[in-house]
Amino acid sequence: MTALHTRATDAEPATAEGMSDRASTRVRRIQLSPTIAIAGRAGVLRSAGRDVISLALGELDFDTPARIVEAAHKAALEGFTRYTAADGAAPIKDAVREKFRRDHGLSRGRDEIHVASGCKQVIFNALAATLDPGDEVVIFAPYWVSYCDLVEFCDGKAVVIQTSGDNGFLPDPSALRRALSARTRWVFINTPNNPTGAIYPSALLAELAEVIRNHSSAMVLSDEIYEHLAFDGNVHVPFTLAAPRMRERTLVASGVSKTYAMTGWRIGYAAGPTWLIDAMARVQSQTAGNACSIAQAAAVEAIAGDQTLIGDWLNTLQRRRNRALAILAKTPLLKVSAPAGAFYIFADVSACLGRHAPDGGRILSDSDLAEHLLMHANVAAVPGCAFGASPFIRISFVIEESLLAQACERIVDACNALQHRQAT
Ligand code: GLU
Repeated sequence: MTALHTRATDAEPATAEGMSDRASTRVRRIQLSPTIAIAGRAGVLRSAGRDVISLALGELDFDTPARIVEAAHKAALEGFTRYTAADGAAPIKDAVREKFRRDHGLSRGRDEIHVASGCKQVIFNALAATLDPGDEVVIFAPYWVSYCDLVEFCDGKAVVIQTSGDNGFLPDPSALRRALSARTRWVFINTPNNPTGAIYPSALLAELAEVIRNHSSAMVLSDEIYEHLAFDGNVHVPFTLAAPRMRERTLVASGVSKTYAMTGWRIGYAAGPTWLIDAMARVQSQTAGNACSIAQAAAVEAIAGDQTLIGDWLNTLQRRRNRALAILAKTPLLKVSAPAGAFYIFADVSACLGRHAPDGGRILSDSDLAEHLLMHANVAAVPGCAFGASPFIRISFVIEESLLAQACERIVDACNALQHRQAT
């Protein structure tokens, strides 16, 4: 089997994956984002005529609401088409300040707000602004595919702590205590979590905060991009609400992509202490310059305008999630549980390993399984290894329900067709 996704290690330098040795050492430490790479492969196969259904990307299929598009149109016609302040124009900073006041109980000045081209760039700016070579960033696995690469690109060292599905993928404060060192600059917290959907309870956030508070070099990057996406009455607790005493040592990052179906507009934002916001603005001013002015105007409408659509979208997503779970339960080879938030099912595929596909290929890893699903079942999903946890596959339930159902049926059929080969 060809692996669909492998992470470069010291033993297997990135050049082995086709990166030219003319590329910098820094860029050879990272890989193409696996979520984007797999979605890209699905797109190529589709344009070649294959009926591939992609469950790879975390991107809502809903249209950006018309009132948001109209706000962008109006801004463009009114000439809001020039450079803005590097880390965001006053209107979006004010909308973000109001959002943090409303949702997080955080009162922040404009000099404590950063706006960039997506939450990914917010995180990059924070790391580029703070990491010196060898500085450590503690990350809980399964983690979002870009965290470790962003850290390594910025010369830092990712210190990964595994969490377990047996415990709902919740982090263990004593494991965190053991992982902290004099070099720790950041601890990343991501709730609701990509890829597991776990929502960290308030008491756990407070416990994690206490561990970090005693470690003065460490800051928290609380990635809350899925903050509005919680199911079954679960509620997301903002980190700064659970741990108010950590306010000056926390960067809360979020954005409009996931909540308002605005992935392409590329607007992320963050709130943090002024020294950090200053440092991040320098990075932004020397790289992107500023996030797109027209997209900023659209984001103001998204953040400050009517929020009722979120409830409707959540109902649709919850229905899709339940349908997908019901279908996936039809194979004993997948272990699935209902995610509390975000929009991914993180299925345990250990029962598939060691089995043979009908074409004779043997499934030895989650990456083999994802490759098999793509090439033989016409479904794109992301293997757990991309999130630092195996053997799993991540299934995004962000596509239209009947298509999602069809994709899940294909996964079930493909899994049920895997056989243990009889010894002869
Ligand atoms: N965050 C989304 C995902 O995990 C979008 C793609 C990406 O940037 O990784 O699928």
